[in-house]
Amino acid sequence: MALIVQKFGGTSVGSTEKIRAVVQRVLGYHKQGHKMVVVLSAMSGETDRLINLARDIQKIPDPREMDMLVSTGEQVTVALFAMAVNEAGFDAISLLGDQVGIRTSGLHTRARIRNIESKRIFTHLDEGKIVTIAGFQGVTESGDITTLGRGGSDTTAVALAAALKADACEIFTDVDGIYTTDPNICPKARKIDRISYDEMLELASLGAKVLDIRSVGLAKKYRVPVHVRSTFTENDGTWVVEEEKNMESMLVSGVTYSKNEARITLNKVPDQPGVAAQIFLPISDAGIIVDMIIQNTRAGSLTDMTFTVLRTDYDRAMDLLKGIAKEIQAESVTGDENIAKVSIVGVGMRNHSGIASTMFQILAKEGINIMMISTSEIKVSCIIEEKYTELAVRALHDAFALDKENIPVEEKI
Ligand code: ASP
Ligand code: MG
Repeated sequence: MALIVQKFGGTSVGSTEKIRAVVQRVLGYHKQGHKMVVVLSAMSGETDRLINLARDIQKIPDPREMDMLVSTGEQVTVALFAMAVNEAGFDAISLLGDQVGIRTSGLHTRARIRNIESKRIFTHLDEGKIVTIAGFQGVTESGDITTLGRGGSDTTAVALAAALKADACEIFTDVDGIYTTDPNICPKARKIDRISYDEMLELASLGAKVLDIRSVGLAKKYRVPVHVRSTFTENDGTWVVEEEKNMESMLVSGVTYSKNEARITLNKVPDQPGVAAQIFLPISDAGIIVDMIIQNTRAGSLTDMTFTVLRTDYDRAMDLLKGIAKEIQAESVTGDENIAKVSIVGVGMRNHSGIASTMFQILAKEGINIMMISTSEIKVSCIIEEKYTELAVRALHDAFALDKENIPVEEKI
């Protein structure tokens, strides 16, 4: 007998019929004697609909009122779910964030969970009830309703699993797990059975579509085993868990890419103490996130500073940098929006050398030029021309034999 937290996303509870199907699924576990806590999202499209209603009334609504509004979507699904359980002849109770003491910070529309009071949940579980809890919402110390940011129900589920010391947190969604790469551009992509928290965090751009990445950090911190799986099949999905010994035998676990970044270069910057701070302080003050940074030294006392920012921040960053360039007497600012970042990720990199150079060779063989490189303990990223993204992903996926399951390192490549 286990205590299981299951979370169902918007598409899984998008109609009363689907809610009934979810109830049947949960009842299957309940009848086996498991204690079930079920976190639900709003019906698919509902949160967007509510946001649009607000925009109709006011261009920039008060974030507190926004939270009052958008948190209602989840109240609907948990109530309907509890009714459907009752209709099936079993006991359930629906609860809002406030009612289970999900205390958050006061940052409306982007609040963070600080504490959960588990007492009431345990009381209802002991009464034999299925407890269903509204995702995405919480309450401040002073009693105001907050929400956790879009996709925040995953975080509610993981936080509850941590607070209740649940045996597992299962995230049910409309895809059947995490893949070695994006199946839309690489038909050979394979579903991963088990992946470590760290790899999942690095594979954010793959996982983000499936699992809200903020919840993975929380799962790692509290060692909550997370099972990402499909609502629409019985098959196992992907387990996101603590690192295991045999994970290291995989050189690379996944290939990921992002087309969200742009590259900016400050040319011929006087190379003296303080310039980097002069460039990047105003940028971070403007809330612009910088990802990779490369500084080249030229002959003489000049340097080039190249870095990447989110594409949505590109225009703002360019404007700012033109001013900064003048101030620090750099020659010019140039930029390029047509770039992509392709990365390989795997805990096996910790113990095997030469993986980065293998990646460079594979890209070279395809005639793809590398503009920037960055590495972490378990990731190598290359900035390339955007038009080569798909080619690069497929070539890397093939070369590291990611379509084949758990092949020992020596037999790969
Ligand atoms: N309903 C919220 C959203 O659409 C939260 C969630 O689905 O996780 O963002
Ligand atoms: Mg969602």
